[in-house]
Amino acid sequence: MDIVLTVDMEPDCPPFLNTFKGIEQGTEKLLSLFGRLGVPATFFFTGMVAQAYPHIVKQVLDAGHEIGCHGDSHTPFTQLDRHGAAKEITDSLAVLRRFERVVSFRAPNLVFPEIYLNLLAENGILIDSSLARYKMGYLFRTKNPPVKRLPVSATSSVLRLPGWIRTPYLGALSSPMVLFVHPWEFVDFRHTNLRLDCRFKTGDMALDCLEQVISGFDKKNGPITFKQARDYITPGGGKTIGPQSDRFSLKSRLSKRYSKDEPWKTDMLSTGVCE
Ligand SMILES: [Zn+2]
Repeated sequence: MDIVLTVDMEPDCPPFLNTFKGIEQGTEKLLSLFGRLGVPATFFFTGMVAQAYPHIVKQVLDAGHEIGCHGDSHTPFTQLDRHGAAKEITDSLAVLRRFERVVSFRAPNLVFPEIYLNLLAENGILIDSSLARYKMGYLFRTKNPPVKRLPVSATSSVLRLPGWIRTPYLGALSSPMVLFVHPWEFVDFRHTNLRLDCRFKTGDMALDCLEQVISGFDKKNGPITFKQARDYITPGGGKTIGPQSDRFSLKSRLSKRYSKDEPWKTDMLSTGVCE
């Protein structure tokens, strides 16, 4: 099983807050955890965060992690025309590429219009991680995209669920298992009026959950390898990485979605917009 740990470096719980406590307080907790467990990750920065917190970008790079692009302002690409979409990408990359070569991208809210995929290719992006296997958009993805696609496997709040729900859910996911978190989840937002799925078990409890997830992967079906998004760059045209089998046909997925007996096996557990 290959695991890809990713972190979306953005304002706190967008679009509900416009503070940066996660960047300021959560990043170092994540870096320390990843360092202690010896796992690499990919950190998708918005251009604005990288511009405002260059020392944090450097800390991430110094720790051996990859930096990727998460747009410039965290505006959903569905709200942008082609010119606006191109500007979000080029503005962000102009900042991020001052630090390192950037080849990986993830759209805010894991929603990226398929008609904008060539904007990524034109700007030297080789890996797009904007698809989510548990969202309907995955079913209608472009067959021959101009960039490789590395879909996300589960939404971040799943990792904060109790182990008896989380473990079987994660255990049913296919390789590569692409997980993501946000630094603001490691700041205590429990006593705010944020949506429940955004705020529950935030702070140190979230960090404990993430440690349990990373150190608890089941090795009985083979070794566990932690990878970064850029590790999936290979020659040739675009393709969606991961299982291409009939398991993901529209019919089978929709019928699985409503499986009452084993709901964790559906890959369709999504808690909403905090992505
Ligand atoms: Zn985001």
